[in-house]
Amino acid sequence: MTRHFLIFGPPAAGKGTQAHSLKEHLSVPHVSTGDMFRANIQGGTDLGKEVQSLLASGTLVPDSLTNRLVADRLHQTDVAEGVLLDGFPRNVPQAAWLDGFLAGKGTKLSGVVVLTVPDEELKARLKGRAEKESRADDADPAVIERRIATYKEQSEPCIAYYEGQGEVPLYFVDGVGSIEEVAERIRAAV
Ligand code: AMP
Repeated sequence: MTRHFLIFGPPAAGKGTQAHSLKEHLSVPHVSTGDMFRANIQGGTDLGKEVQSLLASGTLVPDSLTNRLVADRLHQTDVAEGVLLDGFPRNVPQAAWLDGFLAGKGTKLSGVVVLTVPDEELKARLKGRAEKESRADDADPAVIERRIATYKEQSEPCIAYYEGQGEVPLYFVDGVGSIEEVAERIRAAV
């Protein structure tokens, strides 16, 4: 049995932070599309140059580029038995593409962890993260608003997509609390 999981939720819900302990619990590598895009930007690759302004403005990278990046990563041997995807899918077409990709490998998703955090808390966290990590997309209030709006308009419908499909268990976890409290809730859920 392979273990392909998603950690899903709005920007600053704690996906990256929680992914670090969840990947240990599941014994699978953590793959974050946001981290991969940022590494490309830092490395000055062609992809990095192409996506830099999109990340800075809080706009989604086109599916064609994103899906190719994910496909390349998921073809690597370390994720053959499973993966914890963070930041992907970000819209229903990506979710449908992922289903097809996994089906092509003879597998499917085992579970989706959905972190829930109220908007006001997200905005406060994004501001705090901007001060700590100097991420370009966390600093500007207009960009923060756009990322939260993009989540609601494009990403959140993935939850209804999976619910409608009825194939993969969804684990809704309250994302408010200390890192350890939330980690414990996630471990108890999956
Ligand atoms: P994250 O670190 O997951 O918050 O992602 C940071 C930024 O990377 C997003 O605001 C998008 O610009 C881009 N990005 C990350 N994942 C995706 C995705 N699955 N589809 C499109 N754009 C993405």
